[in-house]
Amino acid sequence: METLEIIDIGHPTLREIATEVPIDEIRSASVQEFIDSLIATKRTANGAGIAANQVDNTWRIFVVEVMNNPRYPYKPEYPLTVMINPEITYLTEDRFENFEGCLSIPNLRGVVHRCPVIKVSGYNRDAEPVEFEVKGITAGTFQHEADHLNGVLFTDRLIDPRELCTWDEFNRRYEESFKKVVQEVENTYNT
Ligand code: ZN
Repeated sequence: METLEIIDIGHPTLREIATEVPIDEIRSASVQEFIDSLIATKRTANGAGIAANQVDNTWRIFVVEVMNNPRYPYKPEYPLTVMINPEITYLTEDRFENFEGCLSIPNLRGVVHRCPVIKVSGYNRDAEPVEFEVKGITAGTFQHEADHLNGVLFTDRLIDPRELCTWDEFNRRYEESFKKVVQEVENTYNT
């Protein structure tokens, strides 16, 4: 499967608001091939998710999947989910502090607030309407990917820009404490 080039922060497509995919085009060969390439690109790069903007495409499409991910060893597994024209609704006022990274922001991580219980609605790749809840840390991943479709990066949402760090510094200084946050969020919301 063809993989696509991931664009980096600074590329203007990351700041574009992506456009809705017409429902009757979801099953077209071009959209289906694009989805396959997006999945392959995410898997090759070991991302937890990827949005169309990140490969210089402006359809409202993102993919989430966490399976034995070496970039995020503490993340709970989540099956491959392709979302087209997604909408996210917060189902609680609660927020947690998520330490995020991004394939388009090489070697940086930072802390943002995310809602731990959300409803995701939109279409799957068979052009069927879908609606489901996502709880815990993975809800943060869905919000991160939905942000991409609106031209928003996690660095726009940093609670404290001074906490931005490299992956080495994250592993050295913050990984242990963040694992405890992950455990607490999972225990509280995803039981
Ligand atoms: Zn990202």
